Amino acid sequence: MHMSVNLLDFDLDALAAYCEQLGEKRYRATQLFRWIHQRGASDFAQMTDLAKSLRSKLAGKAHVQALSVLSRHDSADGTIKWLFDVGAGDVIETVFIPEADRGTLCISSQAGCAVGCRFCSTGHQGFSRNLGTGEIIAQLWFAEHFLREHLGRDERVISNVVMMGMGEPLQNYAQLLPALRVMLDDHAYGLSRRRVTVSTSGVVPMIDRLGQDCPVALAVSLHAPLDALRDNLVPLNRKYPIEELLQACARYQVHAPRDFITFEYCMLDGVNDQPEQARQLVALMRQHAAQGLSCKFNLIPFNPFPASGLTRSPMPQVLAFAQILLDAGIVTTVRKTRGDDIDAACGQLAGDVQDRTGVAQRMASQRLGMLGGIKVVSVQEKQL
Ligand code: SF4
Repeated sequence: MHMSVNLLDFDLDALAAYCEQLGEKRYRATQLFRWIHQRGASDFAQMTDLAKSLRSKLAGKAHVQALSVLSRHDSADGTIKWLFDVGAGDVIETVFIPEADRGTLCISSQAGCAVGCRFCSTGHQGFSRNLGTGEIIAQLWFAEHFLREHLGRDERVISNVVMMGMGEPLQNYAQLLPALRVMLDDHAYGLSRRRVTVSTSGVVPMIDRLGQDCPVALAVSLHAPLDALRDNLVPLNRKYPIEELLQACARYQVHAPRDFITFEYCMLDGVNDQPEQARQLVALMRQHAAQGLSCKFNLIPFNPFPASGLTRSPMPQVLAFAQILLDAGIVTTVRKTRGDDIDAACGQLAGDVQDRTGVAQRMASQRLGMLGGIKVVSVQEKQL
């Protein structure tokens, strides 16, 4: 018996290959692709101009697998957060952020995350699993068509996608790439490369791959000007230190659709928010400007959660830091916090379902298995 195929797993080329196996021409695949992504259809019977022969071939063999909605939270500022149940106790989160001139969807790429950034509640939960292409794209598919209906609009609502939800997208590259292609495809969402952003904590080899395969806007979570501090805040830095990371950014810029790379910098009181550290950043960026890197900084007010042991920088400190960068000619913005009332702000993703996901527990039992119960101390730390 064959498993039913989820058509959301396919970019247009893969769908065409699948349809070819069924003895159908590419233009039929394009029709099918448009029905699914542009019109939000999941029932083949609805696809009235699709040949009956294809519809009957698909029935029973293929389906469009939506995610199951666990909850929806609407913020007073228009931000909407969905929690999706992706099975086995794993929950992911998707956030829609409306602004005057755009609609941005923040998408998750993994259930949990293995990078373990200190200021991120997802990082504290540990890693559960990679999302499939279909699960990544289903977030956009669902949100776009839900919003059109909800807002009574015929045309596109979501103009921008940021891969900034749960997970490190570049540690799930094989599944991410087809999902990006669907986002960009004119027969699907037709998003501009400049308006699709992959945010990474710095997986250097995959930054190069992305530049080759599908250059979209790039955001890099920097958070520190020096390796010693970044090692601590973003543990991946021990593998790919700042110098290597910034060189990869300069290489990426040759392919990038925007003429700058965005650096995200989460402002942590007394940790990375001192004037001296702003000056170190300026020096670092000047040094790499010579290699062709041009940058923009986005300073993010930290959203405290108890297990982090960190606190948010006071706003005057954030502004003083920003001013030092600005005075050095670096474009710098301070991120507005949105959806505070529904815990949709950055770094709070799925924090409120932490207990339900059971990720920490599973991590703990996995580790116990691995370590034969010897180093229980590290398990305790991870469960914080
Ligand atoms: S900030 Fe991103 S990369 Fe770091 S732990 Fe959180 S989700 Fe993972």
